[in-house]
Amino acid sequence: MAEIEGSNPSVPTRFALFYVAQICPERSEGQIGNLQMVEINTEDQIKMLVELQEIDNEMYNKKRVLEAVPERIKELDAAVQVKSANLKNLEEESKKLQVKRKEKEVELQTKEETTKKYQAQLFQIKTNKEYAALEKEIAGIKADNSVLEEEIIILLDETDEIQKKISKEREIFEGEKKKAREEKTKLQDEKKTNEAEYNDLNNKRKEFVTGIDKKILAKYERILKKWDGLAMVPVVSGTCGGCNMNLPPQVINEAELRKDLIFCGNCSRILYSKE
Ligand SMILES: [Zn+2]
Repeated sequence: MAEIEGSNPSVPTRFALFYVAQICPERSEGQIGNLQMVEINTEDQIKMLVELQEIDNEMYNKKRVLEAVPERIKELDAAVQVKSANLKNLEEESKKLQVKRKEKEVELQTKEETTKKYQAQLFQIKTNKEYAALEKEIAGIKADNSVLEEEIIILLDETDEIQKKISKEREIFEGEKKKAREEKTKLQDEKKTNEAEYNDLNNKRKEFVTGIDKKILAKYERILKKWDGLAMVPVVSGTCGGCNMNLPPQVINEAELRKDLIFCGNCSRILYSKE
């Protein structure tokens, strides 16, 4: 159901009473003679509210853009962080390979020294049996060494591969950093422009609202806040331009008459009809 604000069936043309006392308190005491009736032309007020809504649309849009800036900066930083982590992982992998290779090289060196030592011992051996045993030992170590050499070559190849990946990943990381830096600068510039424009609009608004009745303005602003920037909505083909609910014919008629503020029974926004 639609709620009709300020309607009073006994007063066909609606007036609102204002006490001068409210505006000029120093003249209020005992001066009942200063009681004045100020006519509020609701039609004009609605026109002004529609204009105010346009200013507020712009202000809310700027506000949304401004509010999105920190989030965008966070996203950019996160993207750089991901690339940095990828690079770090590869570098760690490369380091592990190098450590592994170093271990194998040390092992190979030790075994080669052992081989040399055994080979020198061969000349001092007296019996054939001992000679054969040591020769067998040497052959075993040599076989181990060739396996180690193979493994070292594989590790070297893997290190080469990973170094290639690292330089590619470093390029990606630097690119991402540059992109983030540039976009952040652009965002900061846009932010400054938007802030300046927002302040201009705010000043314009402050002046504009002086022409609107305080109570009507308070109502409008309450709805504006509740609906995140949209308080005045047109009647669109018999529906509320805010929530799209069908409106009763009586509500549509009242919105057309513009003698009262008419609210949508569903979302409570202020309805107006576009002529
Ligand atoms: Zn509605």
